[in-house]
Amino acid sequence: MKRLIIVSNRLPITVTRNKKNSPLEFHSSIGGLSTGLSSFYKSYNALWIGWPGIALDRIKEEDKENITKKLSHEGCYPVFLTQREIDNYYHGFCNNVLWPLFHYFPSYVTNKSVFWGAYNEVNHKFADAVMQFADKDDVIWVHDYQLMLLPDMLRRRLKNINIGFFLHIPFPSFEIFRMLPYRKEILQGVMGANLIGFHTYDYVRYFLESVRRILGIDSNLGYIYSHKYDEHIVKADIFPIGINFEKFRTPNEEIEDEIENIKNKIGNSKVILSVDRLDYSKGIMHKLEAFDRFLDKNPKYIGKVILVVLVVPSRTNIEHYRMLKKQIDELIGNINGKRSTFEWFPIYYLYRSLPFEKLLALYRISNIALITPLRDGMNLVAKEFLASKQDNKGVLILSEMAGAAQELGEAVIINPNDANEIVKALELALNMPDTEQIKRNKTMINRLKQYNIIKWTTDFMRAMDDVRKLQGKFFMRILNADSEKKMIDNYKNSNNRVLLLDYDGTLVEFAASPKEAEPDDDLLEILKKLSSDTRNNVVIISGRDRKTLDEWFGNLNIGLIAEHGVWIKHKGDNWQTIEPLTNEWKKVVTPILELYMDRTPGSFIEEKEFSLVWHYRKADSQLAAVRAMELKDTLIDYVTNLKLEVMDGNKVLEIKDAGVDKGKASLKCVTDINKDFILAIGDDLTDENIFSVLPEDTYSIKVGMGYSKAKYNVLSTKDVRILLKKLINEGE
Ligand code: UDP
Repeated sequence: MKRLIIVSNRLPITVTRNKKNSPLEFHSSIGGLSTGLSSFYKSYNALWIGWPGIALDRIKEEDKENITKKLSHEGCYPVFLTQREIDNYYHGFCNNVLWPLFHYFPSYVTNKSVFWGAYNEVNHKFADAVMQFADKDDVIWVHDYQLMLLPDMLRRRLKNINIGFFLHIPFPSFEIFRMLPYRKEILQGVMGANLIGFHTYDYVRYFLESVRRILGIDSNLGYIYSHKYDEHIVKADIFPIGINFEKFRTPNEEIEDEIENIKNKIGNSKVILSVDRLDYSKGIMHKLEAFDRFLDKNPKYIGKVILVVLVVPSRTNIEHYRMLKKQIDELIGNINGKRSTFEWFPIYYLYRSLPFEKLLALYRISNIALITPLRDGMNLVAKEFLASKQDNKGVLILSEMAGAAQELGEAVIINPNDANEIVKALELALNMPDTEQIKRNKTMINRLKQYNIIKWTTDFMRAMDDVRKLQGKFFMRILNADSEKKMIDNYKNSNNRVLLLDYDGTLVEFAASPKEAEPDDDLLEILKKLSSDTRNNVVIISGRDRKTLDEWFGNLNIGLIAEHGVWIKHKGDNWQTIEPLTNEWKKVVTPILELYMDRTPGSFIEEKEFSLVWHYRKADSQLAAVRAMELKDTLIDYVTNLKLEVMDGNKVLEIKDAGVDKGKASLKCVTDINKDFILAIGDDLTDENIFSVLPEDTYSIKVGMGYSKAKYNVLSTKDVRILLKKLINEGE
């Protein structure tokens, strides 16, 4: 039976040992992922693989067995890590390199050469653990920045398995991500997945931009088809994680005493709540400074409000965290020292992790939640605070830098770097009428109820299925062994064949500039052998100018079609145009193209005999995409008046006479009714004209993924050459 294998750095259960020989203790792990998914995965046929939180050096062999056995009852399997691995992989690469960089703190990155090696090793260790259980029909869901190499490692070992990856932290903008020395490996690592999930659309955008600029691979509506990833299709999409809504919503008698208790302590003061893990990304200092300023500006609130600051200890073995702790302690001490009276002090400070009931009580009694991260992948506290408000009252002040702000637009949204804005937000929140609070919160709470953690999980898994279905449909179009055999048999038994072959992107890969994509010896040999068979009429049908085609192929016994069909030269014949054409229009269009060339660095114009081409392969892709649209728009009037066509090619726009296309030209090569085998291969939109006009029994092939009028797809120019070589060998 199909099984879900969840893989994350930490298991939902943490194993601890207080002293050297004391017994092992098993606790639920803290954190959104484990609380969220742990209820779900138990009801599913699932296995959770991860580190149990204790160093291998602290346990004996028999402990290992005990832990493994005990965890297996909970549907978990442990990956044991040594202290050295924990130091270099977890504290090192994960929390000293990836975490600060992905949270826009590049200056906090401390990289040591051993970190990257350890990150690789541990990801391999996880891959080995998964391999012990995974079956080809299983679904593997890998979580977070600690395991970004794992999807590709698994893909190499389990070619067809369904892999999902979810990043729980922000994916940074390209300018930040490009700073990472191992940026390419990290991207290639996650690209092993079929589905890559992020919390917000911005993270998706930044990821796709990084894939395009670093790996040179384009995407279409979040789908990445590339022959570099020929085993699978990759999709990047958003899945904002939800919370276990009912857990925070339902009445809970256990907390009534707790609430009473807190109320007795704070009296009638309004409570502003701050809950964060100790982390520089959370903006705790900014929040405290703003609160201090708020009291300066609003002395009337002295004695009337109280800020409860809950800081959950985290990563205290890293210097930046220890420093931050010291700064927070000092600042809170200063503010309290400066402002406290015998009846009141402004900040209640708790430095510990609270059990669920106590945290829920805090959420329920607080009037305002002040959440000010400088960067946060999502921020679950914001969602939990709202969900806990059974009367729908309370004000959420939320940083726009938190992923949650994308979903919680009715909150009071602030820029955490602007202390005045936080002060104003506090003033607004303290004076907000109940009716408005309820109105704002109802919308958000409904959303949280709908898209809860279960919905998030099922949505992600449904999307994984969808990508696989699409991939299945797509791969049905790939030229398989049976169709290939039929084609080869047909080829062998035919005597009058036409082979129409596009050049760039079909017989050779694209190069940065058109001149660099010269035919290599292997290709020339293929063409020579194919054309030496007298039953073959080989035709190269290209957008290139005839001079270049002559230079490259003039001495071969083949036909040539240049400029998408403007010029045709049958085998052994001279060049001729297939339409009477003029060039008058170039005078009008050239200055327009020159303007676009000047405005788009890296782009250039190519002039062919009867067409003009604007090339933008070397330009910045985003700018070029905008400019290409603008240019098409600008040319619309001329197109109608001058009977021109603007043709989209692969990173080119070609302007040419509307009466010419590769389809019309290709028909001129198949006029002989005795043709008994036609093969047409091409890769881009211009070749679709060929596929649509040729007779029904043509073997038409598109190179690359994506839909086409061709009957089959092959994945790369390499596959085209392999196919042509088979025809040569078998056809002899
Ligand atoms: N949390 C907790 N005990 C505490 C304080 C917080 O269990 O004393 C939980 C809180 O309920 C939330 C999580 O810790 O689910 C914090 O998640 P968030 O996304 O806000 O921040 P992260 O720590 O993941 O960066």
